[in-house]
Amino acid sequence: MADLDLARFPRLPLLGLPTPIEPLAGLTRQLGDALNGVRLFVKRDDLAGFGGGGNKLRKLEFLLGAARQEGADTAITVGALQSNHARLTAAASARSGLACELFLTRSVPREQEAYRRNGNRLLDDLFGASVHELPREADNLAAAQARAEALKAEGRRAYVFPAGGSSPVGCLGYAACAAELLGQAEAMGLDLAQIVVPNGSAGTHAGLAAGLAATGRNPRLAKSYAVLAEAEQAFAETLEKANATLDLIKPGARIAADGIVLDGAHRGPGYGIPTDAMREAVRLMARTEGMLLDPVYSGKAFAGLLHDIRAGLYPAGSAVLFVMTGGVPGLFAYPDAFSDASE
Ligand SMILES: *Cc1c(COP(=O)(O)O)cnc(C)c1O
Repeated sequence: MADLDLARFPRLPLLGLPTPIEPLAGLTRQLGDALNGVRLFVKRDDLAGFGGGGNKLRKLEFLLGAARQEGADTAITVGALQSNHARLTAAASARSGLACELFLTRSVPREQEAYRRNGNRLLDDLFGASVHELPREADNLAAAQARAEALKAEGRRAYVFPAGGSSPVGCLGYAACAAELLGQAEAMGLDLAQIVVPNGSAGTHAGLAAGLAATGRNPRLAKSYAVLAEAEQAFAETLEKANATLDLIKPGARIAADGIVLDGAHRGPGYGIPTDAMREAVRLMARTEGMLLDPVYSGKAFAGLLHDIRAGLYPAGSAVLFVMTGGVPGLFAYPDAFSDASE
C-alpha cells in the first residue's frame, strides 16, 4: 500500500471511497486494433457521493473540513455559469448545514437557454445556493471576497474557495486519490503506465502529482489534457499548485518542472467550446460503455487520450487509467452539441 498520512488535515467525508477502477471492455471491443494493445481502465470519480457527483467532492472534503474547523457558517465560491465545482459546493454546503453563495461569470460565449438555465445552473438553485451572475469580464473572486467581508461585518463567518476548489488544501483531495489508486492498482496487479486527467483549474493534476511525489513515485505518472488555459499557463499553474500542495504534506519537498506532463493540443478554440473530437469521444463512451463523459472537461481529455493511443504513444500491453471526473449535468447545457441523431 502507498501510505500517505493526511490525518492532520481536517476532512469531512463526502464520498464513498475508494471509487472503483474498471476496465473498458466494450470500448476496447469496438476499437479493436486501433488501441495498439493498450489496456484502458477508468477510475469512477463520477460515481462519487451525491449532488450529481464528480471530482470536486474530493477537494471539498478538505475545503469544508478546514471551513468547519474555522467555524465558518457560509461557503462562497466562484466559477463559470455551468461550473461543476459551484454545483457541488452548493450540494455539499446544503448537506453540511452551511449557507452557500456562488459568484458565476458568463465567461463562455454561449447564449442558449439551456446553457443559461439548465444543467449545473438549475441544480445550484435546487441546492438552495444564492447565485450572483456576473458579466464575462468581472473579477468574480474579488466579488466573492468583498461579500465575505460584508458578511463578516454582520457577524457571520464566510470561507471563500477559489475557482475549481484548487487551493493547496483542496488539492489534498487528489493527493489522497493518488495513494488510493496506487493501492488499488497494486491489489489488482496493474502496473500503470499513465494516470490521465482533464486539467481545468489544475488542482486535480497538481494534487495527483503531489501525492505521487509524497509517496516516492514519479509525478510524471500523472498526465493532464488542458481544457481551460493555454498549455503554457496551465503548465505553470499545475507546477505551482503541485509544489504548494506537496509543501503542505512534506515541507521543503519539490517537484521539478519536468515532473509535470501536460498536453494542450485538445482544448480546441477555448474553454467550454465544443470540438468534434470531444463529441466523438462522448458518443463512443456512451455507446460502448453506457458511461457519460462531459462536454467541457472529460470529453476533451478522453479525446486527447484516444488520439495519443492511436498514434502509438504507449507500447502494447501498457495499462492506462483515465479518471472519470464527472460533470454529467453539463451535458444538459449543451443539447445543440449532441442533437444530430444521425451521427
Ligand atoms: C473541474 C473539473 C475537472 C478539472 O479539474 P481541475 O482540478 O479544475 O483541473 C475535470 N472534470 C470535471 C467534470 C470538472 O468539473
